Amino acid sequence: MKIVIAQFKHETNTFSPVPTPLERFGGGSAPPEGEAVIKAYRGTGSAIAAFIDLCEAAGATIETPIAASAAPSAPCSDAVFDYIAGRICDAVARGCDAVLLDLHGAMVSASHDDGEGELLRRIRLVAPHVPIGVALDMHTNLSAGMARDANVLAGYQTYPHIDIYETGVRAAKPILASMHGCPLPSIAWGQRPMLPHVMRQGSDDEPNRTLQTRCRELEAEGMLSASVFVGFPHADIAIAGLSAVVIDHDVERARQACEELLDIAWRRREEFVYRLEDLDESLRRAGELDRTTPGNGPIVLLDHYDNCASGGTMDTTTVLGRILASGLTDVAAFALYDPEAVQQMIRAGVGAEVTLALGGHLPMPSLALAGEPLTVTGRVLRLVDGTFRNHGPMATGQIVHMGPTAVLAVGGVEIVVISQHVEPHDIGCLEAVGIDPMSKRFLMLKSRVHWRAGLRKYARAVVECAGTGVCTSDFSTLHFHKLRRPMYPLDPM
Ligand SMILES: [Zn+2]
Repeated sequence: MKIVIAQFKHETNTFSPVPTPLERFGGGSAPPEGEAVIKAYRGTGSAIAAFIDLCEAAGATIETPIAASAAPSAPCSDAVFDYIAGRICDAVARGCDAVLLDLHGAMVSASHDDGEGELLRRIRLVAPHVPIGVALDMHTNLSAGMARDANVLAGYQTYPHIDIYETGVRAAKPILASMHGCPLPSIAWGQRPMLPHVMRQGSDDEPNRTLQTRCRELEAEGMLSASVFVGFPHADIAIAGLSAVVIDHDVERARQACEELLDIAWRRREEFVYRLEDLDESLRRAGELDRTTPGNGPIVLLDHYDNCASGGTMDTTTVLGRILASGLTDVAAFALYDPEAVQQMIRAGVGAEVTLALGGHLPMPSLALAGEPLTVTGRVLRLVDGTFRNHGPMATGQIVHMGPTAVLAVGGVEIVVISQHVEPHDIGCLEAVGIDPMSKRFLMLKSRVHWRAGLRKYARAVVECAGTGVCTSDFSTLHFHKLRRPMYPLDPM
């Protein structure tokens, strides 16, 4: 029994100017292939680790052609897409009994708005009947092609995503059972014309809590797998939006369950709408919360327009600039992406005073905005190599590379400056730069929901800060041309 296991993950923000070369799929170097995949992922909290564990336990021979995972950014080129898809298709074409894929489900390439659908279509060309199981992110924008060409689709049931390994198990189990004579299940799927706001998608917030709880109940009632995909809205493609998938041997039962999930989401669509607050009011409120909220730990200031885990440049300076101007002190900020500034600080050395034009390097043509560097003068506090291992509940055990990293103290604000995009969701990113969040009054994070995984426990209170960036929470500034319409809440429905 031979099983091909592969990973090809990208959440594409079609409004993002951040490029997506092949090296982005390997965290700064070419993505691992062959044995290197097993070495990189075995024992981690990834779907691919679950595939490896289950296949080894079943005594299967494993082939791992490639594990490619890029932080969210702009569409990749056809050459990059063809290379990674080609590695996977070549391995399948050599002959196998099943395919297990760890995909994101919102990938766009230069020529394909539905990257995963295109990958599965190509696999079907070389292996029309091989069983295919796919683990997907909750931010999947699901297509008819994916539902047609896969045999099992299973999505995360948590956001922040802390059940990635378990999702791999849910995707692989029905496929492995089919190797032992059990028939392959049916897929029931559907969509609703709604774009849930990312800031309202957390699985401990309503209505997603109810939706994901219902998925787990359906599985407890005997359904093989149930998933609600809240979708990724920063994608100008026809298929963006909310969808659901239920896997079962009884196709009618699966269909009913799928419609039930979709109906709950549609009925409660207004709760998925995010209400914006003016940045000055947010910072005023942050100061007030600091004075009135008892306990220890920082007031978290979320710079939610610019999180790199949704394709943000991570170098916009609106929120940071306003924090500096407002005179808040005892602040740590994670992080500004600016490799050039880090090199300047390395040349100056620890303890040196430097004046830098920080961030603002990438223009954002989709928003008709130029980058706005922030000129600051401060002292270089620390310089580190920027590598750490996650030990929180998300992507547990995986090694993270921030690249050369510096901490710059400007007045009462310690600014972490990194050379590779990393969204803060694990305490490791702060430990690596010698920052103890409990010793700060304020902690600025470029994040939306993922920070909750490993950092929320430190927060005394949270204030969401509307800044600048291609992950803007103001949908009215995004120009959609390809998205199917009408679409709630862009259109009154
Ligand atoms: Zn996601």
